[in-house]
Amino acid sequence: MIRRWLHDAILVDPESGSEAPGCLLLEGERIAARCGPDAPAPESARPTSLHGARLAPGFLDVHHHGELAACQIDDARGALRRASASLVRHGVTAFLPTTIAWPAPELLARVEHIATAIARSEWPGAVPLGLHLEGPWILSAAAGAQPPAGIRPYDPREGAALFDRAGSLLRMVTLAPELPGAAALQAELARRRVVVALGHTLAGEQDVRAAVERGACHVTHLFNAMGCTRHRDPARPDDAPDGFAAVALAHEALGCDLIADGAHVHPDWLRIAARAKRERTVLISDRIDVPASGRDAWLGADRMRSDGVAWRLPDGRLAGSLLTLDVAARNVETWRVMTRAEAIAACTVRPARLLGIERTRGTLAVGARADLVELDAAGEVRATWVAGRRVYAAD
Ligand SMILES: [Zn+2]
Repeated sequence: MIRRWLHDAILVDPESGSEAPGCLLLEGERIAARCGPDAPAPESARPTSLHGARLAPGFLDVHHHGELAACQIDDARGALRRASASLVRHGVTAFLPTTIAWPAPELLARVEHIATAIARSEWPGAVPLGLHLEGPWILSAAAGAQPPAGIRPYDPREGAALFDRAGSLLRMVTLAPELPGAAALQAELARRRVVVALGHTLAGEQDVRAAVERGACHVTHLFNAMGCTRHRDPARPDDAPDGFAAVALAHEALGCDLIADGAHVHPDWLRIAARAKRERTVLISDRIDVPASGRDAWLGADRMRSDGVAWRLPDGRLAGSLLTLDVAARNVETWRVMTRAEAIAACTVRPARLLGIERTRGTLAVGARADLVELDAAGEVRATWVAGRRVYAAD
């Protein structure tokens, strides 16, 4: 087993929020020891100086479409390999490939291809951990840029076939809790220990409360594709919070994730969300990449446009981002939405906790995977390590 001694580093610990000089001993794919800056290099360990770089756990993106939103059905493996190689340039060492609302037969076929690729492949960089199904069980009226033809209520027969194909690789589902069949869907997801996030919804207080009681714990891209937030609706005599986002913000049992690209959410709302959800505020990319060939009609050249920050439909509606998590972390720090330590936590330990994998990912703890990102003082990625190997270096 290869032993490496990473020294002359500033260890960035997202659990304590501290940054302090130190060294890490890696053994194979794991972190074997964490030492002070003056600790002697263990015998037989290969030394690597990080030249004073900040060393944090690798980033974890729980909402990444990449080319999957538009690639040929049988090119899922290729799309994932390209994502794996490009994500490490941005410090991401693990991600959840995220689907969209395709019609039933296509969704089934795509899930099968993606799950097979995840289960059978080796990756050049970031590791796809499993599937995030964003839809199809969402509300048409809050579709955002999801293809309308693919949106539908939950059908247990379709669900059984999908869950069978995805198996234990199904990690997260974004659903609208007011949809017919949502209770049965959530019961099945709870049984399978899948993270349930509410999103693409106009649900009110009662539906949200019921969904939380059934196990929902998170909100997908808070503020985007959901009921808007007003402080009061004069048409409603009971003066209840108006709009799903307000209900979600106020509900203590729900964490949230945010697209911090400056286009999807105003920095003031990011700040409000970060204060309300504190250590349960997660940063995601919601990134879409258009493949060089084989783009689908819904994402075809005639529909999607990039304005340099995000994808837009012809009517100007947002349709996914061009964001990367390293940029998101720098944005929230620059906009004073989060401290530097909080921004790193929102890309590491917090998404790991959401998925229940915080002992092995998103942490510098002994025994965790040696998935690491080297950052300079400005937060630019200098190098990325996956499973104890430096798979990317900026120069
Ligand atoms: Zn998405």
